[in-house]
Amino acid sequence: MDYIKEKAPPVREERLRACNAYGGSCGNLVEKSKKGCLNGIKRKFSQTQGCQLNLSLAIINTIRDAVVIVHGPVGCGGASLAQAGVNKGFQKLRDSNARGLIWVNTNMGENEVVQGGESRLRDAILHAEKEFRPSAIIIVNSCVPAIIGDDIDGVVEQAQKEVKAKIVPVHCEGFKTKIMASAYDAVYHGILRNLIPHEKIIQDEKTELEALQEKYRASRTVNVLNVSSMSRIDEYELVRLLKAIDLELNILPCYAHPDDFQKATEAALNVSICATHDDYFVEHLKEKYGIPFILRTIPIGVQYTNRWILDIAKFFGAEEAAQRFIDQEVKQLEEAIAPFRDIFKGKRVLIGGGEIRVVANAELLHYLGFEIIGLRAYHYDQFADEMLGEQDIIKQIPFNVATGQPFEQANLNHNLKPDLYVGHVNTNVWAAKQGIPVIPLFHQSQLFLGYTGIYEFARRLARILRNPSFNRNFKDNVHLPYFEEWYEKDAFSYIDESELQA
Ligand code: SF4
Repeated sequence: MDYIKEKAPPVREERLRACNAYGGSCGNLVEKSKKGCLNGIKRKFSQTQGCQLNLSLAIINTIRDAVVIVHGPVGCGGASLAQAGVNKGFQKLRDSNARGLIWVNTNMGENEVVQGGESRLRDAILHAEKEFRPSAIIIVNSCVPAIIGDDIDGVVEQAQKEVKAKIVPVHCEGFKTKIMASAYDAVYHGILRNLIPHEKIIQDEKTELEALQEKYRASRTVNVLNVSSMSRIDEYELVRLLKAIDLELNILPCYAHPDDFQKATEAALNVSICATHDDYFVEHLKEKYGIPFILRTIPIGVQYTNRWILDIAKFFGAEEAAQRFIDQEVKQLEEAIAPFRDIFKGKRVLIGGGEIRVVANAELLHYLGFEIIGLRAYHYDQFADEMLGEQDIIKQIPFNVATGQPFEQANLNHNLKPDLYVGHVNTNVWAAKQGIPVIPLFHQSQLFLGYTGIYEFARRLARILRNPSFNRNFKDNVHLPYFEEWYEKDAFSYIDESELQA
């Protein structure tokens, strides 16, 4: 894989043949994915669509000491308003002097649509430099300038001669893809081209001992690639897990400083917590700098946390120490969650979220005693095949690939009647309105990862399930906008496989 010479990366429909519409069993999904034929499935009716610009901002808005320029009409990136407070707080957890999200919009209107928006972009770059003196200016390109053909890279090339901040163009126009996760590639593409040094940086002169110490430290350092949905306490848990086998962590890209990306080329190993998020980045770092990577699973639930640690330990020849640590942790965990098991036993759960995370959560919830009755994911690609294919307990249950599509979610909830819905905060609202207790799949101020994440999740779950009366009452006072006839139909009635090659 080498797309770095290109101005923009390919979208995931092209690069991974990813799928955004499917309704059928988990077993069948994996089979079709392995045959490479999921990409042909269409939706005859679509209620919602994700925008990769907004998902790109979920990462970019976290970067410290940067100004984000949204090049487009003022509405593009408006969702950043909801992130500003969280991001400032979380930046300050890394650096108490951090300024939080600084965000400029070029406010394109009808005149710019006709005459072009390049001068507005140039003015915004110069304004950002003069006003804020940031380390980086990150430009996200929206649909309008892409459609009218603004030459973003030409403007950047000129402006870079006049400003000290590194300018990072990110080509993430929403209309270009139905697979929102293309955003991760767009962001990493911008970082790889503009924040990662193209040649090794010559360090200040060091003594022989200092050079050896530095070399040893680098040989025990892993880049752990975080995601914006993780909390700081999730990161502390990952640090704890890897310190147990004597490793140092360089945590990227979220909440990092632009200079931190230089260090990314010095680590011994890249470790992802989610292949959907990171494959583009780690493949390029391997190609350009020879850094190997581990991309296999996410440290959620016992099975996958064990695997995550053991895969890393194997690379460093520390399997025995890792296994001792795992045995001790799992024993303590078993004792800690024993009081909750009766509350969970046999309860039926539907899970929605990212493809990797929903499968890991299915394993986790099964371990806690739940019966898994359905899964939903925003898209599906090859990265989930191993995890989904090995979970026999869910082979026959329905899997719905849908970017949002709350009408399908409502139908599944109505007909499967789960005792619990686990999903993203925003999508949980639909289940909550149907009287189903809900819990977030992640939260930026709560712990989900590793062994302590399992305990914390179980503790929160027990509290919700002990008294679900809020959602029961909620249902009696609100209703969803669907006719009864919709609930009588198959939830996947609008998914069309007719063009699929068998
Ligand atoms: S889809 Fe296009 S116009 Fe809409 S918010 Fe995203 S980038 Fe802006």
